[in-house]
Amino acid sequence: MSLTLPATLPTRGDAQPGTVYLVGAGPGDPELLTLRALRIISEADVLVYDPLVSQAILDLVNPAAERIYAGKQRGNHAVPQEDLNLMLVRLAKTNRRIVRLKGGDPYTFGRGGEEVETLKENGVPFEVVPGITAATGVAAYAGIPLTHRNYAQACVFVTGHLKDGSMNLDWPGLARRRQTVIIYMGLSGLAYLCEQLIHHGLPPDWPAAIVQHGTQPSQRTVTGTLATLPTLAQAAGLKAPTLIIVGEVVRLHDKLAWFDEAQG
Ligand code: SAH
Repeated sequence: MSLTLPATLPTRGDAQPGTVYLVGAGPGDPELLTLRALRIISEADVLVYDPLVSQAILDLVNPAAERIYAGKQRGNHAVPQEDLNLMLVRLAKTNRRIVRLKGGDPYTFGRGGEEVETLKENGVPFEVVPGITAATGVAAYAGIPLTHRNYAQACVFVTGHLKDGSMNLDWPGLARRRQTVIIYMGLSGLAYLCEQLIHHGLPPDWPAAIVQHGTQPSQRTVTGTLATLPTLAQAAGLKAPTLIIVGEVVRLHDKLAWFDEAQG
């Protein structure tokens, strides 16, 4: 890579052996990594990474680093979170530079807090490098501002992860005007989500969008309303990861989209 950083750039220095770096990889576009993330991954001795981390970013990791995949193997279950937490402790004790690389931001629906708690309890030094979370990446690349003085003065991030076939969310709090609701992990529950928001008071023609693979070449945006989005999304055959955005800011997509158009 031909990137040369000015010598005057303030830095907290090189990655330290025996330390675990919890690094946010952002939503996919490698140019959205922070300078700190780029430095730390290029110095890693061991990389523990999630399925959401894009190949373009994995290509920037020190080629000599040992790579450990923390997602589901084909036909197997994902490594249980407790095992993963303790694995990071064990790896750090080998006195290498350990990078725990996560999609988006490690502290936004990333279980980063749990991993760092275990490190702290076991006396392992750590650093957290924030990343651009899916919501901010998608907002920028899909032309849907999260807030806007004409449409939304608040923005709520929630997880749509299904529990017992339903979503355990504060529906009255979400079904409010003048706010944007961002739903992570919501694709399989999209129909239920739209139904509940209408049931709790939002009009069926309230704008909603779903964005697949935000910031990546395969980004696709489908816009509609609470009444139409589930059918439109299904017809488009969208694949995870996707982010759902509900609110009047979605109206701006037609005017402000630039990346979808560039991808043709
Ligand atoms: N820590 C991550 C979120 C992990 S939860 C972050 O800060 O972004 C995983 C969910 O994030 C996915 O189900 C999806 O809803 C969302 N997501 C992550 N990357 C995405 C992307 N590039 N485009 C759309 N949604 C994405």
